[in-house]
Amino acid sequence: MPEPAPPSVLDRVVVVGGGLAGTRAVQELRAQGHRGRVVLVGAERHRPYDRPPLSKDLLAGRTDDTTLDVDWDALDVDLRLGVRATGLRPGMLETDAGDLEHDGLVLAVGAEPRRLPGVDDAHVHLLRTVDDARRLRAELRPGARVVVVGAGWVGAEVATAAAAAGCRTTVVEAATAPLEGALGAEAGGHTVSWYAAAGVDLRLSSAVAALGADGVTLADGTILPADVVVVGIGARPSTDWLAGTGLLRTDGGSVAVDEHLAASPGVVAVGDCSAWRSRRFGTRLHVEHWDDALQAPAVAAATLLGRDAVHDPVPYFWSDQLGHVVQFTGYHRGADLVVERGDPTGAEGWSLCWLREGRLVAVLAVDRPRDLLQARRAVAAGASPDLDRLADPAVPLKSA
Ligand code: FAD
Repeated sequence: MPEPAPPSVLDRVVVVGGGLAGTRAVQELRAQGHRGRVVLVGAERHRPYDRPPLSKDLLAGRTDDTTLDVDWDALDVDLRLGVRATGLRPGMLETDAGDLEHDGLVLAVGAEPRRLPGVDDAHVHLLRTVDDARRLRAELRPGARVVVVGAGWVGAEVATAAAAAGCRTTVVEAATAPLEGALGAEAGGHTVSWYAAAGVDLRLSSAVAALGADGVTLADGTILPADVVVVGIGARPSTDWLAGTGLLRTDGGSVAVDEHLAASPGVVAVGDCSAWRSRRFGTRLHVEHWDDALQAPAVAAATLLGRDAVHDPVPYFWSDQLGHVVQFTGYHRGADLVVERGDPTGAEGWSLCWLREGRLVAVLAVDRPRDLLQARRAVAAGASPDLDRLADPAVPLKSA
């Protein structure tokens, strides 16, 4: 069944950001019946491409091209690549190639890597774009000394690729455990042994004092000589150009949107640059998850076109690191109980389940994809599992 004609007819929608979220916004606008003009403004010169494979298959040399499979001609979109948005006035987007009038605006500018202050970028790799990934891959040669700063999601994946390429790989992390910022020290601590097993030297509680052309100096004075330094200490929304518009949150700089993904009348935001009000978890959520960039634009397009749609997903993220498939779903902050399913020190897969007032709110599944699938449904349903059955990895999670 084709979508009914939209109640609100827009003349020209401008989508800012040529990543997955921007691409999906264009697709959804057309699929939901928008017949007016669509302009996509993207700062990168490449056609929109997928980012998760950059730190996995591309670094490993299994692919060189992750361009999204999209028929841009069929979408009838004015694709303006290599153009950067620089400011916003009501109804007018400012770019470095001139102003663009619009009556609907989608903000999908994603995020950019955090940097360490005072670092000479010429000697340091960041990993966000396909150009970053290709440049880094060229340096992952057998025997090269690679120091990765940050044992977060991207740092762990870079270390995986570097070790597999035969590099002498060290990961330096200021926190007491890998993934501590994302999952907490207890959950992240279960991944420590993976590093040694993959031949990676993990240095925890090790803050970086300085980065130079020939290596990394730690706060305790230790010098780690390096041929390649990669900084993977997280990302921040690419929203500096929106300062002063009143659209940004003061804590972190993401675009604040409501449950319909509206930032202000005629303006929606999606993907890594946004933070939406979650009815399900009773708080504002900012995630940097591929799945959210995929799903949210359907709601954002509906909102722009005047329909009543709500974004209230159970978040989902995955990572392939150090020989393990790591998947996470839900929202674990504010949980009052953590239940282990299986033995995190054993060779079999295991899961961690976070509960709040008896309800399952989040699950981390390691090498247990079935747990993840069932957990996402259970969290969505607000399930209150029996704790003994939940702790038994032989009991399907959905039956706990
Ligand atoms: P982006 O992909 O960042 O796209 C935004 C685009 O907007 C960029 O092309 C940017 O250049 C452009 N832009 C920025 N500012 C402007 C401006 N002012 N004007 C015009 N254009 C602008 N997620 C997972 O769930 N699982 C994974 O395994 C995983 N692995 C990842 C590995 C890597 C190396 C990276 C970097 C990310 C990974 N992610 C993963 C996260 C996932 O890729 C992001 O959540 C997703 O790409 C977000 O899409 P987006 O379109 O919101 O933002």
